[in-house]
Amino acid sequence: MTARRSAAELLARHRAVLPSWLALNYEQPIELAAGKGCRVVDGEGREYLDFFAGILTNMLGYGVPEVTEAISAQADTGVLHTSTLYLIRSQVELAERIVALSGIPDAKVFFTSSGTEANEAALLLTTSARRSNQVLALRNSYHGRSYAAMGVTGNRGWSASSLSPLSVSYVMNGYRYRSPFGHLSDADYCRAAADDLREVLLTTTSGDVACMIAEPVQGVGGFVVPPDGFFRALKEVLDEHGIPFVSDEVQTGWGRTGETFWGISAHDVVPDAMTFAKGLGNGLSIGGVVARADLMDGLTANSISTFGGNPLSTRGALATLDYLQRHDLQANARAVGGRLLAMLRQVGAEAPVVGEVRGKGLMIGIELVEPRTTIPSPAAAARAMEATKRGGLLVGKGGLYGNVLRIAPPLTLTGDEADEGLEILRAALAEASGAA
Ligand code: PMP
Repeated sequence: MTARRSAAELLARHRAVLPSWLALNYEQPIELAAGKGCRVVDGEGREYLDFFAGILTNMLGYGVPEVTEAISAQADTGVLHTSTLYLIRSQVELAERIVALSGIPDAKVFFTSSGTEANEAALLLTTSARRSNQVLALRNSYHGRSYAAMGVTGNRGWSASSLSPLSVSYVMNGYRYRSPFGHLSDADYCRAAADDLREVLLTTTSGDVACMIAEPVQGVGGFVVPPDGFFRALKEVLDEHGIPFVSDEVQTGWGRTGETFWGISAHDVVPDAMTFAKGLGNGLSIGGVVARADLMDGLTANSISTFGGNPLSTRGALATLDYLQRHDLQANARAVGGRLLAMLRQVGAEAPVVGEVRGKGLMIGIELVEPRTTIPSPAAAARAMEATKRGGLLVGKGGLYGNVLRIAPPLTLTGDEADEGLEILRAALAEASGAA
C-alpha cells in the first residue's frame, strides 16, 4: 500500500521548477505511483487500466518479475555503470541480439539513452557518410526533442526550433484521411508518393542527400498508417540515388504493430539503419541505432556515450527481449490488437465525433472531428480523454491538431482487458459526441 499523495500539491511544485513546455496529460495531471500488469495506481489511490504504457515504453506492463530480477541482479554486483570505455558483456550480448533481429546485413549497434539521441546518431552517421546536410523526412513526423531531431520533425506543435543546420525537404506521408490523394487505390497512392519524392529531389535538393528518415507508422502524428508498399515505393526512388533510408522504429519496433517485428518490414523494405528506444528496456532509459557496418564505422573521430548501453539498462533490455520472445508478444499484439481495432471501428461508426479509426497491432488511433465532418476537433479529443480517465482508463493523445486518441497498451494486454477498455472508450466517445 502506498501512502496517499496529493497530485494538486505536486502539480504546483512541478510548475514552479519545471519548464512550462513540458506537456502534461489531463486538466488535473496525475502521478502514477504503482503498477502491476496492465494496471496502474495513482498517488491518490485510484486504479486505471493503462492503454498508453508510459509512452509505449512499458512494453511488457508493470512489475514484471523477470525484468525486476535482472535489474536487481545487476545492482547486486555493485556496478550500475562503467561507461563505454570498458567492455560491457550485456551490451555486447544485446547488440548481438539486435543485429540478428534487424535483418540488416553486417549490422552494428550504437546504444544511447533515448530515442532522440538514437536519431541524432543516425543523422550524424548518414550526414557524415554522404558529406551532406540534406535530409528527407515525412510531413507530420516526430523524431525527438534535440536540435537536429526537432529539425526533421514535420509537426509545428513539436517543433520549437528550425535552426538546426540540416536542410530538410518534407515529402508526402501516408496520412490518407487528410490527403488530397486519399481516394486513390493503395497502389496509386504509393505511386503518387514516389512521384512526389522524385519531384522533391529534383526541385528542392542539390547534389547528394544524406538520408531519408521516416516512421513506418507515425506515432506522435496520430498513429498514421500508410498503405503497405508505401515505403517500398519510396525506397526504389531512394535507391536510384543511393540515398540511405533510416527507419525510426522508436514506436513501431519489437512487434508492436503485430504483423511484423519491425514496422518497416510490412513494406518489404530492409532499411540501411533503424533507430529504437521506448519499449526495449520496459521503462529503463535505453535507445540506439542499428546500421550497416560501413555507415556505423564511417565516423572519422572517436566518440563515446557515457550512459548509452550501460550494464543496468542492457541487462533489463535483455530480460525484456527474452520475455517478449518467449511469450510471443508480437502474436499477442496481432491477435488482441486486431480484434480491438475491429471493435473500435464499430464503436467509431456509432459516435458522430469519430472521423477515423486506424492502426496496426496494439497501436490504434481514433481521430476526432466535428460531428459528421472531417474538421479536426481537439476539443472532442480533450473531452474524450477526460472521460476515459474518469472511467478508469489511460490513453494517449496526438495528431497534428491534437485530435487523435492514441491507444498503445502493454503488449501483454489480454482479451478481457481489451474488452474492459473498449467499454470505457465506448462511453467516453458517446459522451464526447453528446457534448459536441
Ligand atoms: N522517434 C519517435 C518516433 C518517437 O515517437 C519519439 C518519442 N515520442 C522519439 C523519436 C524520441 O524519443 P525520446 O523521447 O526517447 O527522446
